[in-house]
Amino acid sequence: MRAMVVPKWGEAFRLEDRPVPKPAPGEALMHVRAAGVGLTLVTMRTGIFGGEAPRIMGHELGGDIVEVGEDVSNVKVGQRCAVYFYLNCGWCRWCKGGRETLCENWKGYVGVHRDGGYADYVCLPADNFLPIPDGLAYEAAAVAADAVNTNWHCMRERAKVNPHDDVLLIGAGGGVGIHGVQVAKLFGARVIAADVSEEKLALAKQWGADETINVRAVGDLAAAAKKLTDGRGVQAAVDYVGSSASFTSAVQSLAVSGRAVIIGATPPAEVKIDAINLILTEKIITGSRHSSRAELIETMELMSRGAIKPVVGTRRHFTEVESLFDDLKAQRLLGRGALTYD
Ligand SMILES: [Zn+2]
Repeated sequence: MRAMVVPKWGEAFRLEDRPVPKPAPGEALMHVRAAGVGLTLVTMRTGIFGGEAPRIMGHELGGDIVEVGEDVSNVKVGQRCAVYFYLNCGWCRWCKGGRETLCENWKGYVGVHRDGGYADYVCLPADNFLPIPDGLAYEAAAVAADAVNTNWHCMRERAKVNPHDDVLLIGAGGGVGIHGVQVAKLFGARVIAADVSEEKLALAKQWGADETINVRAVGDLAAAAKKLTDGRGVQAAVDYVGSSASFTSAVQSLAVSGRAVIIGATPPAEVKIDAINLILTEKIITGSRHSSRAELIETMELMSRGAIKPVVGTRRHFTEVESLFDDLKAQRLLGRGALTYD
């Protein structure tokens, strides 16, 4: 099979001919039909997430199950499936409680700690495959599995968005943020989209943002957010950029009882907190980590109904993934990047 291999962390992809993997007991093999590409992958390829190289990367995937190993009952040959990103134990308190991204016996990420799907086939533990609902395209399912489910978990469980909330999204025009705009609107919130270019803000507006803030133009993002909320601040601020400056703005933008959520990070990301102010205002400062399997299933169902749409800005063949990485690094990509496999 054709496979895009990272020979060593930090190096460019290399097209290799690899044997099609054989599923062991408990595993299944998927013929990959579509994939997503986001900034997380660029960070992962530097090697800071650990894992061994050479490695076939790629975790946002949709395709067809073509073979199952012994003792597999959750998926069958011919089924269309998406891939769940985390390799977790399935039985610890967090896995059993539906919060498997906090797994105590975590084994890593698909495409980092075990080969992913920038290849014709991907072999994974069978419970990393989740059926795609009828009517949802492979590409939409691939985008669901990182760029959208992450927002579904964040808005519902971490930012706890309500219909009467003002919600500030920092980095709203990025591949994950643009789906965050749609999810926050689905909860009925008034969405304030912040980003660094007019092009990205126009995209956020197109996908439902009520207000926009050009961070480069205003300078003080928190002051601009307060101005748009009659001086009160926002009930929730979600930071997709995750730098010290952006998360500081998120915290400073909060209204009384507001929630600041960091969902993506650009290290080092450190914030000074006024602890007394936390007592007086009962603000919550927290993080949001990917989603559970159940949340990915819900996300795909919502997308199959058309409630959230995949926003794909650029499409390339998977053997040209390196050029998409170049676009991501240069911040040229609008929305999510996607790969085709024909
Ligand atoms: Zn676990």
